Amino acid sequence: MNFDQHIAKVPAFPKPGITFYDISPILEDPAVARQAVNTLSELAARYQPDVIIGLDARGFLFSLPVALALDIGTIMVRKAGKLPGQVIERSYALEYGEATLAIQTERDLHGKRVVIIDDLLATGGTVSAAQALIEQVGATVVASLFVVELTGLNGRARLSGDVHALQQYE
Ligand code: AMP
Repeated sequence: MNFDQHIAKVPAFPKPGITFYDISPILEDPAVARQAVNTLSELAARYQPDVIIGLDARGFLFSLPVALALDIGTIMVRKAGKLPGQVIERSYALEYGEATLAIQTERDLHGKRVVIIDDLLATGGTVSAAQALIEQVGATVVASLFVVELTGLNGRARLSGDVHALQQYE
């Protein structure tokens, strides 16, 4: 399926020079959302992961349904300050601004095969920070899956494991 017509391109958001790729139209149409989840689930299943890790916040929209389709669990990587208990954190640069990601140390990840899901791959800063956290707790990232990839920023060069996206833009 071609998802292009279900991804809104919003110029100059959140600031001049950035085109925001909004996945909201995918979520609004159950047939399209189901197709996106099914395709991501088929991709994830190839890697026989033990767990799906979803990235805050739009990654969560896809990580739980994919994990349920594979009958495995999902773990959240969140922005700093959102997760209770003991966490480890990592700061990184965004296409616009800077952020810090966190994961709970009590989550059971040691020795696990992980597939990461997020809505969009831009510079790869977010997912490479998440990968560093995941590796720090003893897991291996076997693949990272996205709804949208902005290929011109070459974010995939920063990632370990395989990379797939449902829709690519230059
Ligand atoms: P990056 O770390 O540069 O790969 O940026 C990826 C993260 O920032 C994802 O969680 C996206 O949701 C968000 N993001 C970055 N650039 C865009 C964009 N042009 N349109 C929509 N979301 C974006």
